[in-house]
Amino acid sequence: MGAKPKELHVVLFPFMAHGHMIPTLDIARLFAARDGVMATIITTPLNVATFTKAIGNGKKIEAPVINIEAFRFPAKEAGLPQGLENLEQVLGSELMNGFFKATEMLSEQLDHYLEKVRPNCLVADMFFPWATDLASKFNIPRLVFHGISSFSLCAQEVIRLHEPFKNVSSDEETFVLPYLPHEIQLTRLQISEELRNSEDSDYKRRTISFKESELKSYGVIVNSFYELEPDYADLFRKEFGRRLWNIGPVSLSNRSIEDKAQRGKQASIDEHECLKWLNSKKPDSVIYICFGSTASFIAAQLHEIAMAVEASGQQFIWVVRNGKNEEWLPTGFEQRMKEKGMIIRGWAPQVIILEHEAIGAFVTHCGWNSTLEGISAGVPMVTWPIFAEQFYNEKLVTQILKTGVPVGAKKWSRTPSIECLVKKDAIVKALTEIMAGKETDERRNRAKNLKEMARKAVEQGGSSYMDLSELINEIRGYQLLQLNEEV
Ligand code: UDP
Repeated sequence: MGAKPKELHVVLFPFMAHGHMIPTLDIARLFAARDGVMATIITTPLNVATFTKAIGNGKKIEAPVINIEAFRFPAKEAGLPQGLENLEQVLGSELMNGFFKATEMLSEQLDHYLEKVRPNCLVADMFFPWATDLASKFNIPRLVFHGISSFSLCAQEVIRLHEPFKNVSSDEETFVLPYLPHEIQLTRLQISEELRNSEDSDYKRRTISFKESELKSYGVIVNSFYELEPDYADLFRKEFGRRLWNIGPVSLSNRSIEDKAQRGKQASIDEHECLKWLNSKKPDSVIYICFGSTASFIAAQLHEIAMAVEASGQQFIWVVRNGKNEEWLPTGFEQRMKEKGMIIRGWAPQVIILEHEAIGAFVTHCGWNSTLEGISAGVPMVTWPIFAEQFYNEKLVTQILKTGVPVGAKKWSRTPSIECLVKKDAIVKALTEIMAGKETDERRNRAKNLKEMARKAVEQGGSSYMDLSELINEIRGYQLLQLNEEV
């Protein structure tokens, strides 16, 4: 007789940025909700609260327990000031290299941890390429979590392998992404600075190691669902040869208002106050505007947005991260907009807002979590990509899913600048098109249909539910094989 399986222990190690930590917590919840599976999240001390406040271990009776393990963040050794443990504190600044250096130094603690704890599976962020070799040292399967869509994974791969951006003579000329099932065009300005500039850089070298480690890993977990982008899940599996499990939309693992309100940072508004305001509005009548956890704008851009929402005549909730200094607000704006709009300075309870029936459109920077949360809520989108893989997500939403209207963002940039400015008229045009354009009804119907598909995918027996079951069974098989070898 073979050895009896113990409880399966899945360890998750997200990158220190809210766009990575939030879905990782949701994934940990999904694992821990299954019989015989235990989940642990590794993070650093200043990021612990993001998880503990959301989990409320021991307080919520029916919620699965998730363990948190804090690794010391080696800021000093990497030449960083103490207190910087999250990407959004360093994005686009000269401290970014030090930040990545510090994250690389976390490998030593992971090595000790894996040796001591011997989990059955390590789900480590794409930004931790060294995790694959460490896991294999202890015979632990390492799964990569990128936090992006299958479409973007494929787009990145054809760009990496075929470099189509080298076939155009200017930064504004469009090129086609080869070998994709749809004809997708981009300009050189819309791809990352590292790809655009041919010079060697630390970040460029790092991105190469991300791919190398992904190729050596056990497989890839994707926060998406098969029915949303079947061509691209198939392409990534069959043509690019990766093992891929679609287990999303993971945000749907948050069922109660309380769970939804606790995602990410402390909200700057009470969720009940927000809901009360939304309850007073008609269905599909309010635009929600939010650009995620890391992107920021120059004052001139905030000013253009303010003028545009006022000129559009639409009702809105607008989340402003870096808007404490009010020089960007047109005179008397808030007084005039008292009935029509609400500005949230800081952090919004996004999922709660998006799921409210009063929300008729979402102006988004196309971060994948936000995009998928918008899709899961059945909301059409105005797409305003800024950096990362957001320009790919825009194409998915506007050209493949056909639930979005582009605002016309032209340039990829980690640091906000006047060159990336989108003018008031372009914003008004997109807002009007999404709320009251020729195709508004069709777009809205398509969005509502995707919402239904998303919900079905995560229900028991749905495609994402089954993919997670298969993954867990496979890790169990791997665990049993090892136990049998040991006896
Ligand atoms: N988010 C939120 N409130 C905010 C801003 C962001 O809850 O005010 C959440 C949002 O729901 C999403 C995540 O933060 O889950 C942002 O991730 P995304 O991939 O969209 O963008 P990133 O922040 O990584 O650019």
